[in-house]
Amino acid sequence: MSHEHRGHGPHKVGHMKEVTSLANPIIKDIKALTNKKSREESGTFMAEGLKLVIDAIELGWAIRTLVYAKAAKGKPLVEQMAAKTVASGGLVLEVSEKIISSITRRDNPQMVVGIFESRWKPLKDIRPKDGETWIALDRVRDPGNLGTIIRTADAAGASGVILVGETTDPFSLETVRATMGSVFAVPVAKATPEEFIGWKKSAGVAVVATHLAGSVDYRTIDYKKRPVVLLMGNEQSGLPDQLAKEADALARIPQQGRADSLNLAVASAVMLFEARRHLLSLSEGK
Ligand code: SAM
Repeated sequence: MSHEHRGHGPHKVGHMKEVTSLANPIIKDIKALTNKKSREESGTFMAEGLKLVIDAIELGWAIRTLVYAKAAKGKPLVEQMAAKTVASGGLVLEVSEKIISSITRRDNPQMVVGIFESRWKPLKDIRPKDGETWIALDRVRDPGNLGTIIRTADAAGASGVILVGETTDPFSLETVRATMGSVFAVPVAKATPEEFIGWKKSAGVAVVATHLAGSVDYRTIDYKKRPVVLLMGNEQSGLPDQLAKEADALARIPQQGRADSLNLAVASAVMLFEARRHLLSLSEGK
């Protein structure tokens, strides 16, 4: 996305600007972030809401643009975030509610939107230590599932998420919404199946794969011996043999009733909290 002051109107001090037209090229660039291609080309993505923007800035994510609706002007936290954005060389846009609605494609939009630089954790930098849990997702398709899993991984104290194969984008608006801010707290890496298998061999981890044909009850596994990578299968087709055969255990969550399987995000939650059960306590957590 462009950093320049294009469009109409006089320049304000630093990088602050009022925008009133939907046709403004900066607004068009921001709206284009709903497309994966634009997000990849610009290396940026959008997060809605003051809370998320504050979380992201506090966690050290680089903000490129802060957009707020006129109604939010003068609110102390909004002003603070605007000052931080300008101080880090970003752009602050004051816009009409109509523009913010159109950026977020919502009738009742949040009053504040932040455009941040995307961040991927390189797979080779992941060297899990004892007590760490990672979750790897094979070709996850649904943005709501991915967002929910990132949020759950955060809540369970997992160290990060590894996306294997062609997956939905963690930086899409829908996924970011579903993470409720955890996308800023949980490192996300991506890998081809081959890269994941190669990494697994040298990372000193135990891969616990979940499979509907798994023969091991997930509650009988020792999750303390080595750092654990939970490997979850695709929503439609489950885990392919190529990945399943690399696992140290094929775990199953016993079920009753008519349902064939659990939803991917639900199965991930069950596994994350079981794998970290010995590390989670009310006295040390929230
Ligand atoms: N039709 C798919 C299949 O045959 O595997 C169903 C996939 S399920 C919706 C998505 C993923 O959630 C599975 O690949 C597995 O990783 C996990 N999962 C769901 N229910 C499970 C269970 N009862 N035991 C183990 N894993 C389960």
